[in-house]
Amino acid sequence: MRISPESTSGTRLRKYGVSVKALRSTTLVRVWWMPLAAVTIPLPIGGCMMVVRRRALVRDSEGALADSGALAPLVHQFCHVHQRLEWGFALYIARHVWNRLAPRGVPEQALQVEREAYRAAREVVEAHGLEPQVKGLGEPESEVAEVTSARRLSGGRQGR
Ligand SMILES: [Zn+2]
Repeated sequence: MRISPESTSGTRLRKYGVSVKALRSTTLVRVWWMPLAAVTIPLPIGGCMMVVRRRALVRDSEGALADSGALAPLVHQFCHVHQRLEWGFALYIARHVWNRLAPRGVPEQALQVEREAYRAAREVVEAHGLEPQVKGLGEPESEVAEVTSARRLSGGRQGR
């Protein structure tokens, strides 16, 4: 599945800085369960595949992605798509691998390749009045999920 930039879902994502090009270059694959809300798999040709946990896609009554904190993990991942498009496949892989090997003890959010993505996701969370200090935003079973559900008391979700 692809999210058209002109669709309601696409427009909502673009509001948080996701580019038209990133949306057009990404194929979303939904899975029933995985430890992360979403993960980007860069492809050597084309763009990226984004594997998304089904319940990470929170929809409104019209079926479009709801404009909620649940968009945070998607916005995070689209930042990686943007990196893949900007840098090319080889450089993307090299930078991500190098970033994770080189600086020992540096928290994930502070890694050069992750900083922008975490910042973008944090803006989504803050735009919805959720706790800005969401720890490990975009991490397995991220607190965004808990925070979102806590706010809505009986609904909401999401992680990376
Ligand atoms: Zn990331």
